[in-house]
Amino acid sequence: MVGVRKLRMGLVGGGDGAFIGAVHRMAAELDGQIALACGAFSSDPARSRAAGTARYGLPAARSYGSTAEMFATEAALPSGERMDFVTIATPNHTHFDIAHAALAAGFDVVCDKPATLDVAQARSLRDLVRMGDRIFVLTHNYTGYPMVKEARRLVREGRLGPIRRVCVEYLQGWLAKPIDAEGQKQASWRTDPARSGAAGCMGDIGSHAESLVEYVTGLRIESLCADLHAFVPGRRLDDDGSVLLRFAGGARGTLVASQVAIGEENNLRLRVYGEHGALDWSQQEPNTLTLRHDDRPAEVRRTGGPGVGPDAVAATRLPSGHPEGFLEAFANLYRGFAAAYAAREGKAAYAAREGKAAHAAREETAAYAAGLDVPGIDDALRGMQFIETVVESSRRGGVWLSVPSQ
Ligand code: NAD
Repeated sequence: MVGVRKLRMGLVGGGDGAFIGAVHRMAAELDGQIALACGAFSSDPARSRAAGTARYGLPAARSYGSTAEMFATEAALPSGERMDFVTIATPNHTHFDIAHAALAAGFDVVCDKPATLDVAQARSLRDLVRMGDRIFVLTHNYTGYPMVKEARRLVREGRLGPIRRVCVEYLQGWLAKPIDAEGQKQASWRTDPARSGAAGCMGDIGSHAESLVEYVTGLRIESLCADLHAFVPGRRLDDDGSVLLRFAGGARGTLVASQVAIGEENNLRLRVYGEHGALDWSQQEPNTLTLRHDDRPAEVRRTGGPGVGPDAVAATRLPSGHPEGFLEAFANLYRGFAAAYAAREGKAAYAAREGKAAHAAREETAAYAAGLDVPGIDDALRGMQFIETVVESSRRGGVWLSVPSQ
């Protein structure tokens, strides 16, 4: 927290009928470090203003008709009232312009995934973030679960031994029928290349799987071979896909993502197999992590339970047996954002007081923020490189391609 004041959030998206914008608001406010101050909630100005007052209880003066109006008005407010950062929870094709305008106006950004429509846009955002010493958090929220952090710690400590095999799957069934053709809000833009990007399912949920794998294992996907498919007749983007993975260091893996897996809800599951042990985590039972061995029975670790490491403890709010879930994991990214903000303020004050060279202070801040364990602008670019490589591999009939690194 910056002193005792709450950070002021400006939300973009999250209008009537929207999904994730309201989740961002709840997650941001969970720990009392952030409060929604203003927003532009819809591309339709009248609906946007109405959502601000009716849905979020904001004053009319802070319920804007557009992001342009919001950025210009907020930037002109005294620093004690102005929003501190912008959250972007709109369809994919709008992320780049909104993030670019926010960063150019001097605001930090929390952006939903995938970060942009393509790699070139992601690279351009990365340059802006770096130049302006801005904070950029990408909401790959599954990295926020305590048992995901525990899994990562066990891998880092070598408890599995060198990793051989990774299986990640993200299965949903909600696009099994042509609800996009019937105008369902979330389905319509996700299956439209102009609004979703080059990939459908693989960009929407395959990107979460990719981020989870690299976060937990610490391994980079070096090359891949992909097979994307649209099962629903007339659908223009993939609703199902399989990817073979080769990691730096020799591990092999598979990544399967589907939105036509009938009956599946939000079944994200990661299994990692090393020379000595293995781990197994599922998003629908997120407070349990199973660790397997070849010489003794499996161990179960639980959120808040005995034996878990400091990363997981720090990401847990309640005593064990009180289930924590999606919102709490999401909120951990906002905690990281608030900590990065406070760190930057602290460094700036230090630099001013000590006369320390500004660039050295900036570097310390960047290093600190990197240690804060939230996906950032490099992950944004990484995600876009993964998506583009998958699409290209599949388009060429399933050839092996290297995934560029930054
Ligand atoms: P949605 O269609 O439910 O909601 C999008 C909202 O953005 C709507 O209220 C729409 O009116 C508004 N909007 C569109 N253009 C706008 C503009 N120019 N200015 C202001 N508001 C505008 O979509 P959703 O399912 O909430 O997804 C939004 C984003 O969040 C997508 O990028 C998606 O990939 C991502 N998402 C992430 C997660 C996650 O777990 N991290 C989950 C769902 C969606």
